[in-house]
Amino acid sequence: RVRTRFAPSPSGDLHVGNVRTALYAWAWARHTGGQFVLRIEDTDRTRVSEQAIGSVLTDLRWLGLDWDEGPDVGGPFGPYLQSERLSIYHEWVRRFLADGVAYHCYCTQEELDAEREEQRAKGLPAGYSGRCRQLTAAQVAAFEAEGRRPVVRFRMAPGRTVVHDTVRGEVVFDHANIPDFVIMRADGYPLYNLAAAVDDTLMQITHIIRGDDLLASTPRQIAIYKAMGVSDDDIPVFTHCPYILAPDGKPLSKRYGSAAISWYRDNGYLPEAVVNYLALVGWSPGDDREDLTLDQIVELFDLRRVGATAGRLDPRKLDAINGDKIRSLAPDDLASRLLPFLRASGLVDDPPTTQQARLLRAAVPLVRERLVRLTDAADMLAFLFIREDLFRVDPESAARVLTQETAPVLEAAEAALAAVDSWDRGSIEQVLRRVLIEELGRRPKHAFTPVRVAVTGHRVSPPLFESLELLGKERTLARIRRALE
Ligand code: GLU
Repeated sequence: RVRTRFAPSPSGDLHVGNVRTALYAWAWARHTGGQFVLRIEDTDRTRVSEQAIGSVLTDLRWLGLDWDEGPDVGGPFGPYLQSERLSIYHEWVRRFLADGVAYHCYCTQEELDAEREEQRAKGLPAGYSGRCRQLTAAQVAAFEAEGRRPVVRFRMAPGRTVVHDTVRGEVVFDHANIPDFVIMRADGYPLYNLAAAVDDTLMQITHIIRGDDLLASTPRQIAIYKAMGVSDDDIPVFTHCPYILAPDGKPLSKRYGSAAISWYRDNGYLPEAVVNYLALVGWSPGDDREDLTLDQIVELFDLRRVGATAGRLDPRKLDAINGDKIRSLAPDDLASRLLPFLRASGLVDDPPTTQQARLLRAAVPLVRERLVRLTDAADMLAFLFIREDLFRVDPESAARVLTQETAPVLEAAEAALAAVDSWDRGSIEQVLRRVLIEELGRRPKHAFTPVRVAVTGHRVSPPLFESLELLGKERTLARIRRALE
């Protein structure tokens, strides 16, 4: 039975790197009919806030990734917040100390620094020498009398560990390069390797899917599994996913705006597009299909197809996927997804009036072909939703298009439109074509652009006749008149 987990440290926004590994872990559990566990690694007390934990859950829900066990839903192996599992880690540390696989280390930071300096000066690889491994009772008593509080270190026995990784194959670590490492701080807080290894064992995790940066921690965690009595056969399968790089090929830093998942939400990306896009950074279904729903990802996902090359973020590909996903939404669905963005731009009330809701629903077909991001809609539709007294023509468009030369076009358009009885796109188009093109003899571009600028405020807008229909006769005429003033 497959059990995977996502184990974020909630030290800030989830970024695309974590989310991609979360997605793979989730998809593998769903693909195999297994379980997906959410565990919050919040033992580094200084960094964690309620709010940070909440935003992890919000981001995952927004993406459509659900979990079978986790801090909010509980489960048979809880609690799922590491900060609530301290007594479990203490118990294992107690056993490790009793078995001699761990020991107290009284070295101060200054002593460790000095040791490292010395090693460096001698050209030796720097790392803890193990000098507290065999302290006598008298030495311990002396340190205690000085008021020193010990950390707990895990004793790496000589030898080597072979990590079997679905991406990297067999990776061999010589323990000579792995100094005894701290598993518990002096204040009783566990360190990552201890907490993660204990939890992965107790939570019966079968597949660990995470970032490449943790490959080097893996032999330490395997040593802890073994100290817990896990047999070789029960060691989880590892998949260490290569980094996601920024578009320029450099490492993605937190400073890169679009590293954070919340950036995508705030900037008008659909969660469907984000997961589709991220799934394909480092994995492919084996053909060149690029338009995948979450269900299809589940159906096709295979850990063995996660590749070893670092993927680069490709904003243009994401935009293309986002546009396609937007066009595949049902109109009502698209309308409701656009709403928060129109609200944020102050174009509709919260909640929207019935009239605003109706107008938005009617406007969706005008913009859906052109939207790349949901945020684009606010600019495209501002002319429809804006309060009449706040409507302004973009000054540059006005200067270029609303000139002496185009005034006759607007005058003719106004007179003709005033006479239209049934205000629908067909009648509007027919009348404007007859009056401006046939009678006035203007070419279509010169006939319609002044009307477009006067009424929508811009030279580029949603389709003109539909826009006038939705705007209504009264407002259309008023705007043409204002443009003539
Ligand atoms: N909590 C770790 C992190 O966010 C990941 C732990 C793991 O996946 O083993 O970097």
